[in-house]
Amino acid sequence: MGATIEQQEISPKVQEWIDSVIKQDEIDRYLEDGKCFIDEAAIWRYLEENSKPDDARIRDIIAKSRALQRLEPDETAALLHCTNDDLWEEIYAAGLEIKQEVYGRRIVFFAPLYVANLCVNNCAYCGFRRDNKAQERKCLGHDELRDEIRALVSAGHKRLIMVYGEHPKTGADFIADSIRIAYETKVDNGEIRRANVNAAPMCIEDLRKLHEVGIGTYQVFQETYHRPTYEKLHPQGTIKGNYLWRLYALHRAQEAGVDDVAIGALFGLYDHRFEVMGLLMHAIDLEKRFDGVGPHTISFPRLEPAVNTPWLENPEHKIRDDQFKKLVATIRLSVPYTGMILTCRETPDMRKDVLMVGCTQIDAGSNIAIGGYKAAAIASEKQQFILSDNRSLDEVIRQLAEMGLITSFCTAGYRCGRTGEYFMKIAKAGKVHCMCMPNAILTFQEYLEDFASPETRAVGETLIEQEIEQLPVQELKDHVRGLLARVKTGERDLYI
Ligand code: SAM
Ligand code: SF4
Repeated sequence: MGATIEQQEISPKVQEWIDSVIKQDEIDRYLEDGKCFIDEAAIWRYLEENSKPDDARIRDIIAKSRALQRLEPDETAALLHCTNDDLWEEIYAAGLEIKQEVYGRRIVFFAPLYVANLCVNNCAYCGFRRDNKAQERKCLGHDELRDEIRALVSAGHKRLIMVYGEHPKTGADFIADSIRIAYETKVDNGEIRRANVNAAPMCIEDLRKLHEVGIGTYQVFQETYHRPTYEKLHPQGTIKGNYLWRLYALHRAQEAGVDDVAIGALFGLYDHRFEVMGLLMHAIDLEKRFDGVGPHTISFPRLEPAVNTPWLENPEHKIRDDQFKKLVATIRLSVPYTGMILTCRETPDMRKDVLMVGCTQIDAGSNIAIGGYKAAAIASEKQQFILSDNRSLDEVIRQLAEMGLITSFCTAGYRCGRTGEYFMKIAKAGKVHCMCMPNAILTFQEYLEDFASPETRAVGETLIEQEIEQLPVQELKDHVRGLLARVKTGERDLYI
């Protein structure tokens, strides 16, 4: 069993490990003329040159996104400067329309699972930072990990994002082991079908280990694309202090065969317009280098309070709610075919609002304390930061169903090889929903059978009936009805 651990000071042995993590040649090989793809001066130039877009230009840009074409930096910069409220309503409507066109009325659900919070880094805004003595350190042992997974599976979850600090005790082999355990642990009809990972940047050799055990998406947030701010918030001499090691983490992942990669910026660290431009540049560079395969998802977490973390008390670039909704819609229009993740960091009201400008994935029933699902308690000193939406999975699923949105736990696409380049091709053609809506319906019915409250089941079954009616051809409707009947009699994991 793992136990509460006193975070060690950096011993010579740990320092030796820290010094061995960054492989300079796995940064240099991606630089062009010694430069990275974030050109600060160019970003400011785009923002300045497009600071007074007229209405006609904004409408042209909206039309381009509606045609599912990725925007160019000058176009995203123009959207970021739109000051006409009526046009913003058009942008929000376009965001939803694009999302429905590519992904349908499905929302994918996942749960974060914090496996360990030992960390050698010292990010100013994070409750897990090395110098935070108020933070209880813990690393789940195998039995504790199985308990957490059982608790999640018993609530109906099928997808995880497994989260780790950065420490020699929880390196690539540890992460690979925990992914293996996630897939092996079953409860009756329930199981984890996709284990995504949010962990520190790794070298290609380590990333191959994660690929071998069937990692889903590998997610690394750049936090801030503004290098001077990055270097201020992530002390030099720490691993995370190396901006370029992090910037190319997902390039290395692609090279290691992990073809679903996810980017993100932590909003509130710096000027939000700069960060949106940085995310776009990142997507463009990945597309350019890897046969059109950009990020599978984009995340836009906002800063939340964390225990004993004074830096968070008065951040200079705090994002207001209205700015947040605008920046999410701008990301949606900028990269129309990419998944977008909205987390429990936001309040229920904010989530309801922002979901409808084009998000594709959310978490619910989340607990970000190490061991928090089994304990079912949310003690703030055990969390990395404090969540704002603490509703249960069942409650959020019911709310979405009442809004006409169908919950998907589907992971069939990945298991049929619909990842990376193949996924991007069908996403760009707006065809994901033709394949995925029947599978979403089937996994939603599984949830209703096995886990839902009677209220959720009633709302959910009405929605499923409506969705079947909207499938494009009669044969498909009949086929899905046949599969649904089999789910109702106990068969599981059926997909098209
Ligand atoms: N330790 C790994 C790393 O830094 O890459 C794993 C990620 S960390 C546990 C997950 C993410 O949480 C970070 O990338 C950061 O964006 C976010 N985060 C950290 N502190 C936060 C805070 N106070 N509020 C909201 N999000 C925060
Ligand atoms: Fe460690 Fe990640 Fe938190 Fe930074 S954000 S202190 S690397 S857990």
